[in-house]
Amino acid sequence: MTPINPPKSLDQLTAQEIERKANIGKIVTYTLGNLTSTYVNEGFQWLLPVVLSQSTDPLWPDPNASIETRIEVDIYGKPVRTMSSMIVHKLIAASTVYPKLFILSPNVRIEKSERGKTGKHIYEFTQLDFEIQNATSKDVFLLVETALCTLIKALKKDMKEALSAIGRFDALPTLEGPFKIFDREDLEAKYGETWEADVASEITQPAWITNLPREFYDFEDFSTGKWDNYDLIMPQFGEVLSGSKREYDYAKVIKKMEQHGVRKENYSLIIQMAKEGRLKPTAGAGIGIERIVGYITGVRHIAECQPFPRVPGIVHEL
Ligand code: ATP
Ligand code: ASP
Ligand code: MG
Repeated sequence: MTPINPPKSLDQLTAQEIERKANIGKIVTYTLGNLTSTYVNEGFQWLLPVVLSQSTDPLWPDPNASIETRIEVDIYGKPVRTMSSMIVHKLIAASTVYPKLFILSPNVRIEKSERGKTGKHIYEFTQLDFEIQNATSKDVFLLVETALCTLIKALKKDMKEALSAIGRFDALPTLEGPFKIFDREDLEAKYGETWEADVASEITQPAWITNLPREFYDFEDFSTGKWDNYDLIMPQFGEVLSGSKREYDYAKVIKKMEQHGVRKENYSLIIQMAKEGRLKPTAGAGIGIERIVGYITGVRHIAECQPFPRVPGIVHEL
């Protein structure tokens, strides 16, 4: 495969590249409008994001995590981190005031420089992150299937010109739910370590992958060792979403934090709420905006969908 040239900054674009970037920008705008409307119409509250907090996603132990630097500074005498995801905020917000919520959440993950070449990683991105009290994985599957099928149908109707201009109108398949569900263990047995890329190259419709061992907040059935969590994989592309039913039982949360070597002092609120029975059963997920738009537009590098590209290893002035 030919190497992927990193996307240029705005000032470096030729006239033709400006036109292409503008068409991608129209598709980003349309996608954001369409997805957020679906969530609002389904009764979700739209929360504004935070950027700095004491508590954020440990991104550990996720076998795919590749973080070079974690950003931590002291403000007002307390250490805060840039958000790697708003998972902790989601769990507490959905357990208290906002039983159905979503956030367009800016995430900073300083991925290792070699990830600049995957075409799928950027060091600042946005998740449409959502959480629902008393929901099951099946509820999340149905919601996401509805949102994405609606989005692609609407894009093909309203954005024909922009999609055609970037050569993607005919190649973009209409989606139809329910999407197939695969267990990660079966895929590993069939394909070995490369299962994710192999599945992505074989499917023609999106597919759910369940039972992925990862962070403490994803639900694990201790009696079977199975995880009630999921990724959504798009055909010829790969992962665009991760989520799960959540742990809320105090003893399990503590046990997993200890097993994973997570620093409990960064999660005292969630621990306290679980102890008091105030952490509610919830389920949710996050859709990577640049990933889903990258899939829709068929770009070589998802940073092409960013006005100000954030390619791991490359820092532009803007
Ligand atoms: P990957 O395995 O692809 O590196 P991940 O599983 O580590 O990603 P998650 O922690 O599941 O990522 O993040 C939730 C979602 O956010 C992902 O499904 C993806 O859509 C998006 N995302 C995660 N990391 C990045 C990144 N570096 N650049 C762009 N989007 C990302
Ligand atoms: N957004 C993800 C979730 O809801 C967490 C993450 O970003 O890692 O599970
Ligand atoms: Mg993931």
